Parts: sequence; structure tokens; C-alpha cells
Amino acid sequence: MPDPFQKSYPARADVVIIGAGITGASIAWNLARDSGLDVLVLDSGPKAGGSTSRSAAAFRHQFSSASAIEMSLISGREYRDFSKTFGCEEVFTRNGYLFLWSRAEDADAAASRVDFQRERGVPDVEMLGADAVRRKFPWVDHPELKGASWCPHDGFLKPDLVASTYLEAAVKRGRTLLQYSEVTGIEVAGGAVRSVTVLGRHRIETGTVVNAAGPWANAVSQLAGVQIPLTPVKRYLYFTNQLPGEGVPGWPLTVLDLEVYGRPEHDGLMMGWDLRPAKPSGWDRFPPPTLDAASLNDRIEPGFGIGPDDYGFEVLSRMAEWIPVVAEKAGLDHASCGYYEVTPDEKAIVSWDPRVRGLLHAAGFSGHGVMHAPATGRLVADMILGRPAPIDLKALSLDPLLRNEERDDPERMVI
Ligand SMILES: Cc1cc2nc3c(=O)[nH]c(=O)nc-3n(C[C@H](O)[C@H](O)[C@H](O)COP(=O)(O)OP(=O)(O)OC[C@H]3O[C@@H](n4cnc5c(N)ncnc54)[C@H](O)[C@@H]3O)c2cc1C
Repeated sequence: MPDPFQKSYPARADVVIIGAGITGASIAWNLARDSGLDVLVLDSGPKAGGSTSRSAAAFRHQFSSASAIEMSLISGREYRDFSKTFGCEEVFTRNGYLFLWSRAEDADAAASRVDFQRERGVPDVEMLGADAVRRKFPWVDHPELKGASWCPHDGFLKPDLVASTYLEAAVKRGRTLLQYSEVTGIEVAGGAVRSVTVLGRHRIETGTVVNAAGPWANAVSQLAGVQIPLTPVKRYLYFTNQLPGEGVPGWPLTVLDLEVYGRPEHDGLMMGWDLRPAKPSGWDRFPPPTLDAASLNDRIEPGFGIGPDDYGFEVLSRMAEWIPVVAEKAGLDHASCGYYEVTPDEKAIVSWDPRVRGLLHAAGFSGHGVMHAPATGRLVADMILGRPAPIDLKALSLDPLLRNEERDDPERMVI
């Protein structure tokens, strides 16, 4: 493999983080701030070049599991103060997050979740009746609207800027980031991590490897001789033309019946849809079917483009049923895609690997890796530094998944 930049690689590091996406970046920053450990971040491509740059980047507190709510509370505080802490431009647009419901039973279930979220300290989350929704968000109009759950402290983020800022801050504190440096081997001896190999020839001794490789995390895990139940699933985003004068930049992230979602992107809309039928077959088996990491790509597959028979057009049509200005003025401009990294229960794995001492996984975030990155960084630093964690780590543990058992604290609000 060519080594285009002829970098010099260190002979050893206390901690090697594989992946310079938002997760690896946050972990690097937390370790740089809280410890004297020698941290090396390696990425096979450019920083933030994986799922981090393909994300809708929404942030919300509105989950059904205690662990996800806690991750959002920790992360929300950090994102709120991020620009002040790091002296960068604002990364968090707090337009709020609105779940609209057309079925009474879904609105009832949402009301119970709102109670649960409030009990756990989510500020100002509330249920709105149909009339209140129409008054507060006059651009919404659907004959079957039954109500909405709404939190004004939610919104959306700038994930590339967050990742770069964390990494720059870690580098300023003397830690190392090496891009275009694919990890091609993880040496395990006596049941413990001993070293990683970069680009097939640079051996770096280490006792701790953090697998923050996003959709490639199972492939990275296999370098250490073990599998984790995590599958990349391709997901698409669709972008409309600009809709000047309609107030779109002030809209919250809006989800229709937990399926279609949209949020402002400049004067237009960025939209996505939960593509349940695209889950790989045999999903409930362990180990799940794995995609060859090398086959992950940026192709818009046939049928998923923006033509009149394509999936993107269905997304736009569903949005148009709820938002008249979309029906009147919006067309599709372009599409993009990336990969969710999905575990059997769609919750993340933030866990030491019980089979290989010194291997820690921080992956499997489905559609939540951007919003939860600050909390993930903190949790992983706590685990490495032997500090008590602020949430119950059992909910994110790998062990039950390896035994094919259900984990505690299931999450129902995955889009
Ligand atoms: C369409 C879409 C919409 C989404 N919407 C949201 C949302 O609204 N909110 C939200 O919070 N999340 C959302 N997500 C999910 C979010 O983007 C991811 O959870 C998050 O970006 C994961 O970040 P990461 O750093 O863990 O992984 P990545 O950003 O994928 O980073 C992993 C890195 O590992 C590197 N790597 C892989 N293998 C190796 C190797 N062998 N050696 C060295 N480096 C390696 C890759 O190059 C990559 O840079 C969305 C994702 C998609 C695709």
C-alpha cells in the first residue's frame, strides 16, 4: 500500500484510537484533557471522512431509554457551551425537535415518554395538542394530526466542525493525529492487545486500542480476531431546492409518524426516511451478516435517487402531505448517502471486549453517534482511567450481545 505522506510513526502509544470521526475525536479530547496518557488517533482517510460527514446531525433528548436520555443530557450541556469552551463558531442550532403524530395511540405513547423524559430531567419537553401545534407551527397542516411531542432545547449540529475542533484541541495538548493511516493489523498475544500495524508495515506497541471505526468497526474488530454484532446499513438524505421567504431556517427538526424527517439546510430542507425494509436478511441471527468493509461506498443505488420513481421522491411526497409549502414549491435537488452502524437492538456498544484485554469498542450508534459523541468521549475516558461512569454501562455492554441476550433499557425511538 502506498504511504503518500511518508509520515513518521511512533514506536509506541499508551492508547491507540482507530477512527478520527466524531467519536474518536471526542475520546481523544477527553483523554487529552483528563490524563497524561500518550494518545494516537489513526484514520485510514481524512478526519471526519466517514459517517460523521454524511449525517443529518440532529440532536434530541426525546428517547425512550434512560441511558440514551442521560447521554443526551451530558452531550447537550457540552454542545450548548461548545463554542465558548473551544473558541470556535456556533456548532449547535437549537431550533427544537418536533415529533408529529397522526395516530391517537402513537400520541398517547409519546405522552408517556414525555413524562419519562421529564422525570429524568429533560428540560421543557412537552406534549402539544393538534390546535397548539397549528398555532405554534403554522406551516404544518395534516387532517389527521393528533398532537406532537416537542423539546425546544433540541436541534442540529455541525459534526465536521465538532470533530475537527476536538482533534485540534487534543493535538494542541501534545496528542497525535495521523490521517491516511489505515490500521491493517492488531496483534493479540496472551489474550491482550500488544500492538497495531499501520499500512502493513509500521508497528506501534500499545496496550489499549479503542475501536471507533463507525461502520467499519466489525472489520476492525476482526483484525484482533473477534467479531462484534454490528452491520453497516446504507441510509440516504435528500435535499430540496431553496425556498426563500418561507421561514424554513427557523423550523425545528420535524419527524412525521417516526418515519420521514426534515430539517432546514440553508433555505431548503434536508430530509430522510427510516428504511426498515432495507435491513439485511437474517438480521436476528448472531453473528449478523457482515458487509465487507471494502465494499462500503458513496453510490446512490438504483431506485434511491431523486427521479419520479425513486425513493427520494416518496420522501418528498410524504413531506408534502404534512407541509403545504413543500407541496407547492419544493423539488428535489440532490441526494447523499452514508452508513448507519447498527447492532441487533440498535443501541451502541461502548464496552471493553471480554475476549481481548485492552480492546474497547465505541461503535454501533445507529443514527445517534453525532449527538452522543460528547458523552461517548467522557464514558470511554472514564473506562480507561478507571473512573466511575455517569450512566449504567450495562445498557451499552457487549457481553449480553455475545451471549445472544437482550440488553437492559431498550430504546424504541430509533429513526
Ligand atoms: C444518513 C445519515 C443520517 C444520520 N443522522 C444522524 C443524526 O441526525 N444524528 C446523529 O447523532 N447521528 C446521525 N447519524 C449517525 C452518525 O453520523 C454516526 O453515528 C456518527 O457519525 C458515527 O461517528 P463515528 O466517529 O463513530 O464513525 P465515522 O464518522 O464513520 O468514523 C469512523 C472512522 O474510522 C475510520 N476507519 C475505518 N477503518 C479504519 C482502519 N482500519 N484504520 C483506520 N481508520 C479506520 C474511517 O475512515 C472513519 O473516518 C446519521 C448517519 C447517516 C448515514
